[in-house]
Amino acid sequence: MDARFEPFSIWAEKPESLEPSLSGNVKADVVVIGGGFTGLSAAITLAEQGRDVVLLEADFCGAGASGRNAGHLTPTVGRDIVYCLKTFGKERGAALARFSDEAVHDTEALIRRHDIDCDYEQVGNIIAGVHPSQRDQLVKAAGIAQDAGVEMAFIGEDEMRQQGLPCSFPFGIKENVGGVLNPGKLARGLRKAALKAGVRVYENTPVRDIREDMPATVTTDHGSVTAREVLLATNAYTVPSLGRMKSKLFPLRVTQFRTQPLTEEQIARLNWTGRAGIYTAHESLENYRLTADNRITGGSKWVQYQYGSGLADGHQPDTFRQFDDLFRVRFPELPDVSIDRFWGGWICMTLDFLPLCGTTGRHRNIHHSLGYNGHGIAHANRLGSSMALAMCGNPPEELTLFNRRVFPLPPEPLRWLGVQGLLHATMRGDRKVDRELAAK
Ligand SMILES: Cc1cc2nc3c(=O)[nH]c(=O)nc-3n(C[C@H](O)[C@H](O)[C@H](O)COP(=O)(O)OP(=O)(O)OC[C@H]3O[C@@H](n4cnc5c(N)ncnc54)[C@H](O)[C@@H]3O)c2cc1C
Repeated sequence: MDARFEPFSIWAEKPESLEPSLSGNVKADVVVIGGGFTGLSAAITLAEQGRDVVLLEADFCGAGASGRNAGHLTPTVGRDIVYCLKTFGKERGAALARFSDEAVHDTEALIRRHDIDCDYEQVGNIIAGVHPSQRDQLVKAAGIAQDAGVEMAFIGEDEMRQQGLPCSFPFGIKENVGGVLNPGKLARGLRKAALKAGVRVYENTPVRDIREDMPATVTTDHGSVTAREVLLATNAYTVPSLGRMKSKLFPLRVTQFRTQPLTEEQIARLNWTGRAGIYTAHESLENYRLTADNRITGGSKWVQYQYGSGLADGHQPDTFRQFDDLFRVRFPELPDVSIDRFWGGWICMTLDFLPLCGTTGRHRNIHHSLGYNGHGIAHANRLGSSMALAMCGNPPEELTLFNRRVFPLPPEPLRWLGVQGLLHATMRGDRKVDRELAAK
């Protein structure tokens, strides 16, 4: 295998001309820390509401998960909708599902409003089974979701083939809302929209400290910003880069791969003419999709936690080999196609799989929206904007869906042991499914 490792991702390139890094002391109404989907959508909304906004980004806008993800625009919330209904009750679970559908539509509207060319294909996504033992679980999940008024339907073998989905995925639950996109192009488009809206963006500007006061002061290597309101939009980097929210969040490293481009004949051989994105019904899911230039990208499944909630190294040759083997198993129709790139990024996990958005600080002026548990394209865009409205004194009702008691994560080494235990338990069930499939 001679695939290359991309330190950023296949989607995100450093813009040719970065915005300047901050030098000196500036004032603003609001300072946003982090230039991913959360920070950019918040900054755009704030500027549209007439606020003077400074956005500080440690690297370049889109260098984080927003420019590294798999590009499935899905309404997934929590672990999944069944988990939400069971954990948060029927009413709130269904409200979370409705919120997630709206977040997808909102992201589509954002793309249209700013005329962002991000190769968006509104083809939906499918939660696919790979083994008969997953069938009952998916039928049941679709039933539970339908009873709660959530539009989700189980589809069997014939319909899967009619919808142009590959044979390795015999059945599944179709999400008609959403599709697949190029996240790097989306991040670049939002960066441009933020600049156009008048946001003062500083790149290559890591924030080192936040002094909680009224106004608050945010310090960088060569300057500072004084602002009445601060928004933390640093997602998986929050603990390693700012030492904040240690007991509430932890980062996981997720690996992705990309193949060479497929020919029309290879796509037809695979029966993936419907082009819907796919993620599997495993506990630790696999994701697959076609790109605009007809490559397959895939990944997730084997994730890494680094002791102390640091950012685990992405160059993982053993994991790359596992993905190469898995690709052969899931796509036996394509012996003539190889993986040519690996990349990855860090997702931000919470203990109950729901995002955290809220306000802290003695002066109630340090806000945050983070912890999307690997499903943040729609949520980050929507909640970033909702938090911006809250900062302007108009909090959308939907934010109350995320009010809850958050149980603290234990400190190290218990945290490391706990996360490893959880990852092993999750993988044990998946390994059984995959072993049985291989034995067939
Ligand atoms: C490999 C992978 C695959 C994924 N696939 C999907 C998918 O298919 N569908 C989906 O919905 N979601 C997916 N996600 C999750 C999704 O990408 C994220 O939830 C979403 O992008 C989070 O956006 P964000 O703006 O909150 O965080 P980020 O995009 O991570 O942005 C945070 C930013 O903060 C900056 N920063 C950090 N610390 C500082 C500091 N101290 N000072 C200044 N700036 C700082 C970082 O440089 C970064 O740019 C995936 C994530 C990964 C990593």
